[in-house]
Amino acid sequence: MSTPEFVTDATIETRITLHDGSGCQCPLHQRRLFTSLLVSSVACAAVACTSEPAMAREGVDVGGNSKFTKLVPAADIEQAAQQQYAQLSQEAAGKGALAGASDPQVIRLRAIAQRIIPFSYDWNSRARDWKWEVNLIGSKELNAFCMPGGKIAFYFGILQQLQLSDDEVAMIMGHEMAHALREHARERMGKQMATQTGIGVFSSLLGLGNVGRSIADMGGQLLTLKFSRSDESEADLVGMELAARAGYNPAAGISLWQKMQQAAKGAPPQFLSTHPSSSTRIQDIEANLPKVQNLYARAAKPTQRFNPPRAS
Ligand SMILES: [Zn+2]
Repeated sequence: MSTPEFVTDATIETRITLHDGSGCQCPLHQRRLFTSLLVSSVACAAVACTSEPAMAREGVDVGGNSKFTKLVPAADIEQAAQQQYAQLSQEAAGKGALAGASDPQVIRLRAIAQRIIPFSYDWNSRARDWKWEVNLIGSKELNAFCMPGGKIAFYFGILQQLQLSDDEVAMIMGHEMAHALREHARERMGKQMATQTGIGVFSSLLGLGNVGRSIADMGGQLLTLKFSRSDESEADLVGMELAARAGYNPAAGISLWQKMQQAAKGAPPQFLSTHPSSSTRIQDIEANLPKVQNLYARAAKPTQRFNPPRAS
């Protein structure tokens, strides 16, 4: 096979979005690599025609999922994430840094997650079957994540240093869950595979390649995967809606990001290196608050409230 040509996100995006879905006129098919009619048709069906209509519903509007998610099977990503999460948990436990089920902050995080999780199913039907996990890592790092498949971790530092309220914890958790529900990691990996392997990714869709091996190779990146600013905006909005539906005040997104900005004046938190912020983030959250205020007003509120860990 010839050396794959260099393909950027933008060129792939153009190739895919230009496709009109009617007669396979997309630039994909003009490429010399896709001279076989059979290959073209199947690649088109599998890749180019997967955009979903925007949902007409109460709440935020972020449109359909990225077409790139379809390049990598969800189950494979979720399995890679599960392995990474298990490894991270084991390493933390080995250092005595994995908080136990009776830890007050673990009880708190799990209580907040239990309220939010049922509202995740509307965003991703697979989420109903995910084996959700919520753990607390005993580290001073300001970090939190939700890996594909619902594997959540908070680092003690983010709770303690930012003195997060339950509403603020719910905003971070909703934001992280949104990355998983909207399959941003799957999208990143799909783009990466399309860029790095060229024809290989399309061969894989036809069962000609070994997509599983590439995903296993990429699994190690899940914890350091850097999201795009557009992924961040989407996660802010979806997370805000999830938290509001679960009875947490979505306005906490403003105080949360103010605290995060303040913390970034020292050493930039790990969280911000994987979740790049935009200068308009707080304004964007403010502008979208009216879309979720009614959901919050109608939502059942948590009967139990928790305090952050004592400040160091
Ligand atoms: Zn993020």
